[in-house]
Amino acid sequence: MSATLPEQYREILIGLGENPDREGLLDTPERAAKAMQYLCHGYEQSVETIVNGALFASDSDEMVIVSDIELYSLCEHHLLPFIGKAHVAYIPTGKVLGLSKIARIVDMFARRLQIQENLTREIADAIQDITQAAGVAVVIEARHMCMMMRGVEKQNSTMNTSVMLGAFRESSTRMEFLQLIGRSKS
Ligand SMILES: [Zn+2]
Repeated sequence: MSATLPEQYREILIGLGENPDREGLLDTPERAAKAMQYLCHGYEQSVETIVNGALFASDSDEMVIVSDIELYSLCEHHLLPFIGKAHVAYIPTGKVLGLSKIARIVDMFARRLQIQENLTREIADAIQDITQAAGVAVVIEARHMCMMMRGVEKQNSTMNTSVMLGAFRESSTRMEFLQLIGRSKS
């Protein structure tokens, strides 16, 4: 039988040269395991359960934008946090998604081990699949603790990623979106 997550955290403490039996660390393996499971709870969710039928008929074909969605994720290379904001837009073709659902879809994919590029793509593809939109745009800006706290220690750098599907590949639509989220370079 393989070791449980708390047992494995105890081994990590030993591996780091710590004494896992000192008072301050006694409950740490249990707590760290719980924290990590929380940070990765997106594995237990699916787009279907999150959306749960909150897809509504609508005649609107105007761009829907949800901006500044708080984002907390873990990089899959270092298991360190990256933190930032996601901006999501889509152009409906008869179906609109309940507003809170977009934030929950972002959260579901963020609460897994990720790289920012794949996270951006997974959010865009999921929203495209659900809504059959004429286009989907996702921009993520995030700061990576693995860059800020170690290695190059570039403390002020923000990484930006974007995925543009369908109508957002046209420059006028893309520009409108970027202007509306305040990210256009003029
Ligand atoms: Zn990293």
